[in-house]
Amino acid sequence: MKKLIALMMAALMLFAVAGCAQQTQKEAADNQTGQQTQKKEVLVMGTNAEFPPFEYKENNEIVGFDIEIAKIIAEELGMELKIEDMVFDGLLPALQSGKVDFVIAGMTVTEDRKKNVDFSESYFNASQVIIVKKEGSAVKSKDDLSGKKVGVQIGTTGDAYLTENHPDVEVVRFQKGADAIMELKNGKCDAVVIDANPAKVFVEKNSDLTLLEEQLTEEEYAIAVKKGSELKAQIDEILQKIKSDGRYDEIYAKYFPEETEETSNETEEGASQTE
Ligand code: GLN
Repeated sequence: MKKLIALMMAALMLFAVAGCAQQTQKEAADNQTGQQTQKKEVLVMGTNAEFPPFEYKENNEIVGFDIEIAKIIAEELGMELKIEDMVFDGLLPALQSGKVDFVIAGMTVTEDRKKNVDFSESYFNASQVIIVKKEGSAVKSKDDLSGKKVGVQIGTTGDAYLTENHPDVEVVRFQKGADAIMELKNGKCDAVVIDANPAKVFVEKNSDLTLLEEQLTEEEYAIAVKKGSELKAQIDEILQKIKSDGRYDEIYAKYFPEETEETSNETEEGASQTE
């Protein structure tokens, strides 16, 4: 009988030890889930990395002015940034379907787009310009576009400008601005209409092309979010913050060093004039 009791007690102790072990395992699992909830939430941005210097690929990495702004937004929100690169005219549908949380893509605020998405406050002034061949181009201003073949990136404000203002132009639409540029170089179209800053980059890289001074439109870039999204207010706040604490100016100076120099020269000249 004593033996039996001893055996039962031993068995009980064994259960107790096993129970403890189970407890520790459960605790470990709990800790792990705890760690997982601590892991940063992902903020997905949509862009079209064919638009230098705002977003473009360098050594297989997507970089640019907009990317730096997006990184700050994610950092300020304590989130991890994920970049989805897609065709430009797929960006707003991706936003509406929830595939991406926001779009930053040198995107101009337009009344048409405002029907489908919300825009942050603007972060850049832009315009459309005309690129032509340096030698022998028949296009010297927008008035010469009549009857010509003009390349654009599909779904952009350059596309809309021509469609609305120059019905007699044959608009040739490309997926990428760079493809429109190739077509112009090959003599298959007479001009390209595109945003001024990417135009400068394309012209710098192609010595046979030149930029007409004339600005066709006045536009503002902003960040698009899903209609009614609370991200809009958060992004606006962050934009205001970086515009006033110098971080925006730093990014601007990095991507537009010439313009920054021009402005500081102007200020210096201004200062010496008042002396
Ligand atoms: N700013 C132009 C637009 O919003 C072009 C933008 C782009 O090609 N990334 O339509």
